Amino acid sequence: MCDLTNPIFIDAAKARKHLERLYWPDGVTCRHCGNSDPTRISKLAGKSTRPGVHWCNECDKPFTVTVGTVMEDSKIPLNKWVLAYHLMAASKKGMSALQLSRMLGLSYKSSWFLCHRIRESMKPGSPSPIGGESKVVESDEAFFGGKAKNRAYAKKEPKKHAVMTLVERNGESRSFHVANVKAKTLREKIVTTVSRKSHLMTDELASYEKVGKEFANHQTVTHAADEYVRGGGFIHVNTAECRFSLMKRAVFGTHHSISEAHLPRYLSEWDYKWNTRKMTDVERAATAVIGGEGKRLQYRQSREAFHA
Ligand SMILES: [Zn+2]
Repeated sequence: MCDLTNPIFIDAAKARKHLERLYWPDGVTCRHCGNSDPTRISKLAGKSTRPGVHWCNECDKPFTVTVGTVMEDSKIPLNKWVLAYHLMAASKKGMSALQLSRMLGLSYKSSWFLCHRIRESMKPGSPSPIGGESKVVESDEAFFGGKAKNRAYAKKEPKKHAVMTLVERNGESRSFHVANVKAKTLREKIVTTVSRKSHLMTDELASYEKVGKEFANHQTVTHAADEYVRGGGFIHVNTAECRFSLMKRAVFGTHHSISEAHLPRYLSEWDYKWNTRKMTDVERAATAVIGGEGKRLQYRQSREAFHA
């Protein structure tokens, strides 16, 4: 549970202190040169100075805690950023930009950028491979989008997007938007994501047949109920299916439709939530904030993406 009356959600100065504690647990560190010597950093104060500005005497540059993060150059008050991180990290079904714009009193466009920057923070920097000796990795595919019922003027069915999720049993998940579910496409993702020492569990899709031989073991199940009891519960893709049901609920329940250009960011969000499922909401939000370091998005990049 996150306590919404916490001052960090209401007061911008307290939110800044909160961010400084998260990003600089060992003390203020220059965002430009990494200098952390407290005698070589001074805090700028004065009526004309923006809040939270520090001066580095090593590189002679000013900096604040948000420099280089997804929050840099944002006009949105920091307490709203901190609250948005908490709401997105705590929501099990995902949160739409519209919902967040109402809750935070922001325009839809500002809220949209905020959501995507937070999703960017949730993306792992350099994801490590999953699986390994005597570990089970399940693979499953699903198609998203393509619902045309609310689009009175749509002439044809919107395109469906194929998504593949690889999940280590009792471990982490990695999801990808794939162009198709052909053997070559799926293999490329599987062999670069999963340790070959793993036991691979897939459905009976023919695309898995060849790549399965590259792993310690490959077993297949049909998506029929009686398969789940086979082998004392060892042979199943329940974990991947459970992971997919979370994602489907989010797409159809919260976001309704997701464009191809933005799908990878939504996938990062769902992987993130799955991979941090044992954390408390407060820990999950803090970890996401820290993940936003070094991921400043260029304004042009975001503006182009908004219209994608
Ligand atoms: Zn410096």
